[in-house]
Amino acid sequence: MTRKKAAFFDRDGVINVNHGYVHNIDDFEFMDGVIELMLYVQSLGYEVIVVTNQSGIARGMYTQDDFEQLNQWMCAQLLERGVIITDTYYCPHHPTAGNSCFTQECTCRKPNSGMLLRAAEDYGYDLSQSILIGDNQSDMQCAINAQLRAGYWLFDLAAQADNGTALAQLSSQAKNTQLFHINKLRECLHLI
Ligand SMILES: [Mg+2]
Ligand SMILES: [Zn+2]
Repeated sequence: MTRKKAAFFDRDGVINVNHGYVHNIDDFEFMDGVIELMLYVQSLGYEVIVVTNQSGIARGMYTQDDFEQLNQWMCAQLLERGVIITDTYYCPHHPTAGNSCFTQECTCRKPNSGMLLRAAEDYGYDLSQSILIGDNQSDMQCAINAQLRAGYWLFDLAAQADNGTALAQLSSQAKNTQLFHINKLRECLHLI
């Protein structure tokens, strides 16, 4: 029997347009192509898991409750379109920012792999068969740290110079994880 596999999705900048610390429904705008991509990975047998750094909580900009309410709404919207979010993991911490009980070092904030390891334990995923889609270097480092099969880094031409160099460096240190650059979420459809 093959073990279960997950497609980990970063949230801000991948599922929703990154307007900066989004915590209200009014500011939540789905990214172009993300629902199509989620449906596609589901059809390939991946379970969809959200993994998101939410340092806005450590910074005191919104609460865990605010986050969870928005997350529930998001999951309901996706479910209406046929996407099942199996679970959402979020890191409320930041090592230095803010002045709250969440201002601390942790093992869950990406690039740390804590959220992915927890999901693997909770649902029995084979991480070596799992993938991550993100828009930050820390997402790709996280994919490597968790020894996923692949990471898909979404960035546009404006960021190409800096991120292209970082991608080459990361790729050279990744033993088991293949990294890909995508300009649009739809490009992922041909690479997975
Ligand atoms: Mg992001
Ligand atoms: Zn954390």
